[in-house]
Amino acid sequence: MFCYQCEQTAKGEGCTKIGVCGMEPEVAGLQDLLIYTLKGLSCVAVEGRKVGVVDPEVNEFTCKALFSTLTNVNFDPNRIIQLIQTSHSQKENLKTKVKAARGKTDFQEGPAAFQPATHLEGLLKQAEGVGPKSDPSIAPDILSLQHILLYGLKGVAAYTDHAQILGKKDDQVYAFIHEGLATTLRQDLSLQDWIGLVLKCGEVNLKAMELLDAGNTGTYGHPVPTPVPLGNRKGKAILVSGHDLKDMEELLKQTEGKGINVYSHGEMLPAHGYPGLKSYNHFYGHFGTAWQNQTREFADFPGAILMTTNCIQKPRESYEGNIFTSGMVAWPDILHIPNRNFNPLIDKALAMPGF
Ligand code: SF4
Repeated sequence: MFCYQCEQTAKGEGCTKIGVCGMEPEVAGLQDLLIYTLKGLSCVAVEGRKVGVVDPEVNEFTCKALFSTLTNVNFDPNRIIQLIQTSHSQKENLKTKVKAARGKTDFQEGPAAFQPATHLEGLLKQAEGVGPKSDPSIAPDILSLQHILLYGLKGVAAYTDHAQILGKKDDQVYAFIHEGLATTLRQDLSLQDWIGLVLKCGEVNLKAMELLDAGNTGTYGHPVPTPVPLGNRKGKAILVSGHDLKDMEELLKQTEGKGINVYSHGEMLPAHGYPGLKSYNHFYGHFGTAWQNQTREFADFPGAILMTTNCIQKPRESYEGNIFTSGMVAWPDILHIPNRNFNPLIDKALAMPGF
């Protein structure tokens, strides 16, 4: 494996045996392959836009899947394989629509013509040829800029996914994500071209952040300074980490009147400032400190724990039976909650001692 997409990377150079984040080589390979298939999907999406074909499902999926390859999001090989398969089937469906609109679909090589293997060994073999260092012929400066663009696009995708969850979308952002991913395949661009693309990515990212801001404040109001208790209140308890406010809202609704107090952890702290969330009396306080201290702190929490967005670290035995994931977050053998039906999490909290 080779991964240097985040500041945790080993020796500041790259994770090569196992990720500092806990990523296994198998997962790193599957993520490389997922990105490769998303580049293929993007090539078709770019051709589609030229003939007026824009598929909202493809837009949203591209963001979710790309976001899932960010640090501390998805460590579950099976979930990544599902994403690879969905990426491929969406690409083939989109080709049919683009062809009907007389757009280009006759890709003979590269990720747009790629067919993923049907079994793990085959996928891992395919992944060997598509990782970040798989083409030694690319000049190091160009390669660096390509990777800066890719990692920038992942950030844009994460913001865009959170915004789209709250109903805010802009096709210019989706179009750039597809254009950027497809452009990483080009061999004919100059250093200046790549710098221009990286700067454009930053510009589009501001648009994505605007969308997310509009989603957050439009749904939950403008945040106001809010005292947040650091202690605890007697009763059953649920701890929420990450920064998906929709997950938090749905959980607060589903726990209302059940004698459960909800606590934030790490990056969920700012949720207390939003009028639409702080109005829930049982959204009580903040437990623990920063996200990276979770493995020390979660063992002391006497309730169930929900990981949203991108903060999960390898769960310790002491609390692995109490922790759940939602959205794009996943860890092998940890119970995942689809579609914000938090009943299993609530049942676990009710069965635990609480404070
Ligand atoms: S995401 Fe994980 S594997 Fe990749 S550089 Fe960061 S710590 Fe290393």
